[in-house]
Amino acid sequence: MLAPFTAGWQSSDLHPLVIEKSEGSYVYDSNGRKYLDSLAGLWCTALGGNEPRLVAAATAQLNTLPFYHSFWNRTTKPSLDLAKELLETFTANKMAKAFFTNSGSEANDTQVKLVWYYNNALGRPDKKKFIARAKSYHGSTLIAASLSGLPALHQKFDLPAPFVLHTDCPHYWRYHLPGETEEEFSTRLAKNLEELILKEGPETIAAFIAEPVMGAGGVIPPPATYFEKIQAVVKKYDILFIADEVICAFGRLGTMYGCDKYNIKPDLVSVAKALSSAYMPIGAVLVSPKVSDVIYSQSNKLGSFSHGFTYSGHPVACAVAIEALKIYKERKFVEKVRNIAPRFQDGIKAFSDSPIIGEIRGTGLILGTEFTDNKSPNDPFPSEWGVGAYFGAQCEKHGMLVRVAGDNIMMSPPFIITPEEVDQLISIYGIALKATEERVKELKSQ
Ligand code: PMP
Repeated sequence: MLAPFTAGWQSSDLHPLVIEKSEGSYVYDSNGRKYLDSLAGLWCTALGGNEPRLVAAATAQLNTLPFYHSFWNRTTKPSLDLAKELLETFTANKMAKAFFTNSGSEANDTQVKLVWYYNNALGRPDKKKFIARAKSYHGSTLIAASLSGLPALHQKFDLPAPFVLHTDCPHYWRYHLPGETEEEFSTRLAKNLEELILKEGPETIAAFIAEPVMGAGGVIPPPATYFEKIQAVVKKYDILFIADEVICAFGRLGTMYGCDKYNIKPDLVSVAKALSSAYMPIGAVLVSPKVSDVIYSQSNKLGSFSHGFTYSGHPVACAVAIEALKIYKERKFVEKVRNIAPRFQDGIKAFSDSPIIGEIRGTGLILGTEFTDNKSPNDPFPSEWGVGAYFGAQCEKHGMLVRVAGDNIMMSPPFIITPEEVDQLISIYGIALKATEERVKELKSQ
């Protein structure tokens, strides 16, 4: 197998960790070892490993209609029902239509085509550029990788595509100027965004895309007043706002959507992951009336919206997603996440004084740890020390899986995590941290 995001020398044909079974917040490997899955798969199995209602929903649909497509005005009931249910969950702004994809990447690729179609319909053929942010992650297809602001996704792939521009990463700890408050930092970033728009020409900028809390870039919640100021700039120049809610949606931040938490009023929204609790691959784009009205009214002129996937609105995936949304509502997961979040956040943030931790940041059930020397964003450990990887291996040794990206550690446990499991997570984190501190001491003394 050519494994995703795996270096050749770590090929999964060599010694991959093979996960065989999941149960609640835990997964088991092929040797029967049990791990607390602190990342919920890839920030996605919100309902954990063995939710019987999702299995039943999939089975029932497989027994009735395992597949039919949604092209040419044909469709299936689960896809119609899911569109309705999903649109009702989004209340930050009115959303009129849902377009189904198989993944977050496809949702973000779809965003670009929708926005281009919209501006073509409005007779604005030059308004086509996208602004995304450094360190963002929007997926790995050509366009979604271009939107992403992570160099590894661009290097060796001849990306980003020329219509994508990147503006500042809103990471206060790393990028603020001496003496600058969070609000002042946000003001400066909004000013930089405006300068970029003016330099390129507002008539060429179509859309701005942002994750409410940046995920794969290292878990970066926005600084105070950031989205308020950014939205004002975007609105001023008639630029569409796309909220990439692929990680944040459905309760992870203690609100149904990240947009609810940060008062974002987007024109377009991308979701995936927890939409089906990852039991089936499915993503979606939510489209506001502002955009869908243009697309519908102009489709005579431009022809059909010739975009879609064989599996857009796959009935089994839709049936599972409908059930997942039902479960989130019935079991009040937004409230549950909000209640358990302080135990998780405060428990891990209590380690902030560690001499090898630069910053711990997060909100709700998402958290990042960045290892640096001297508590400074400017003193990384030598990459050959592999501090983050060592911490990750220690977690694994003690029965927990975390996401390691260089010296960044990321966690986003499932919504079903219990207080006892949170305590176990904190305890393993503490053990791994102690061992990593010792390791760094040893390396420093060599
Ligand atoms: N957007 C965000 C914010 C993501 O975190 C991800 C995946 N981690 C994606 C898009 C891409 O989703 P997928 O992997 O399903 O294509």
